[in-house]
Amino acid sequence: MALTLFNTLGRRLEPFRALNPEEVGFYGCGPTVYNFAHIGNLRAYVTHDLLVKTLKYLGYGVKHVMNITDVGHLSGDDDSGDDKMVKSAATRGKSVLEIAEFYTKAFFDDLDRMHIARADVIPRATEHIPDMIELIGRIEKAGFTYEAGGNLYFDISRFPRYGELALLRLDELRAGARIDVDGNKRNPQDFVLWFTRSKFENQALTWDSPWGRGYPGWHIECSAMSIKYLGEQFDIHAGGIDHVPIHHTNEIAQSEAATGRQPWVRYWVHNEFLVMDKGKMSKSSGSFLTLQSLVDQGYNALDYRYFLLGGHYRSQLQFSFEALDGARNARRSLLDRIKALSDQAAVIPGAYRPGPADAASPGAASPGGISETGEEAGKALDNFKAALEDDLSSPRALAELWSLVRNPRIRAGEALAAAFAMDSVFSLGLREAALERKEASSESEESVREIEGLVAERAAAKKARDFDAADRIRDELKKRGIALEDGPGGTIWKRI
Ligand code: AMP
Ligand code: ZN
Repeated sequence: MALTLFNTLGRRLEPFRALNPEEVGFYGCGPTVYNFAHIGNLRAYVTHDLLVKTLKYLGYGVKHVMNITDVGHLSGDDDSGDDKMVKSAATRGKSVLEIAEFYTKAFFDDLDRMHIARADVIPRATEHIPDMIELIGRIEKAGFTYEAGGNLYFDISRFPRYGELALLRLDELRAGARIDVDGNKRNPQDFVLWFTRSKFENQALTWDSPWGRGYPGWHIECSAMSIKYLGEQFDIHAGGIDHVPIHHTNEIAQSEAATGRQPWVRYWVHNEFLVMDKGKMSKSSGSFLTLQSLVDQGYNALDYRYFLLGGHYRSQLQFSFEALDGARNARRSLLDRIKALSDQAAVIPGAYRPGPADAASPGAASPGGISETGEEAGKALDNFKAALEDDLSSPRALAELWSLVRNPRIRAGEALAAAFAMDSVFSLGLREAALERKEASSESEESVREIEGLVAERAAAKKARDFDAADRIRDELKKRGIALEDGPGGTIWKRI
């Protein structure tokens, strides 16, 4: 089986075919940094992380881009309401840039604590204004815009495919449309590409443009920055389900209008919402939970990660502290099981690292160097892989991890090697737990790092076809009592 993803565009499960398996282009909408992320937002980023790590596990290379919105996002995605950054800065008596700086750092802290890998490129909107102006210029030249009341608008009536992603029926929408707050718009779904004069005159940051001094609408940044870093057509775009009807719908219209290429994005992946007992979590109402508030109540950030992985990303997930307690208990027993296995194992096997060999035949090999993990562990890895390939079924994949570590027929070292391979996707810190346990009797983490450094150096030498250097490193490690085993998923090391 190969990876299958549910594509919101078309609403069906589709086999994933990469434009270039060595560098899958992936864009995930990032945060607007006017406040702390709430735990619902973190569900979106854990979903992106699950997707990226699954792709890597299956042998793809990935270029992951995530934007930071620090300008232009109004409280209503449809250009209504206040500017989120300006309002937050005014309330807190700070400048917009200070606010952006503070909450971006807080966001990165959350990502680190949740073991969410950083994207390869993290562009900030305010640093890409010329790219946005250029893209808007292309849209204008192609005839999709009009100016009204000093703002430049996208004219959706010029784009017949408008709303395809969200299955919008424009005739119905128009019939039932509320009186739009922005009287400049010809159609209620038209949206601002560039603001100059409007009710948002208190915007702190403005730039010169062919349409006057002003600032960009929110949607254009994602089109401009994804095209800049991933090209005019790329593989996957993700975000929360709330982005389907407006933000992503508008991104598609802008991008395809500018480039004339279709489809701009091949697979659209949307996570369902995390919901609270008492309904929607919302920052505007001021009632939302942050990761820090969970930590303050004694939870580990990874308890929350475990909780999220226990639900399929396309199902709504109900948050409650009872459910979080359940996740905490389960994670603790998992770590206990890993520690028990490491007491039984002679050595702690090396971490799985995806190797360049994988990229040549994505999905073909079972990574993790399973030759040494025995048939039963191999079967568990196969099932784990099949679960992830089935539209990222993390709950089923977790169940496979559990049956692996509980299977008495699998030797401890083999179970650990396979569990660590799975943890390259789950990122629950299993190997760290095992190493912690072994510390007294085995080598320090420092020497493990040194060995892993040499293994990585050898992989680089092999990639550069410098086989003499690669052999030298292998011999050097052998002298230190380390054996290497090259598998389709990369190199595993063990003590001899
Ligand atoms: P924002 O910072 O508001 O642009 O949101 C960041 C990400 O979180 C977006 O991908 C949203 O779609 C997503 N999101 C917002 N609320 C929730 C929620 N309650 N559950 C899951 N994802 C959410
Ligand atoms: Zn976006």
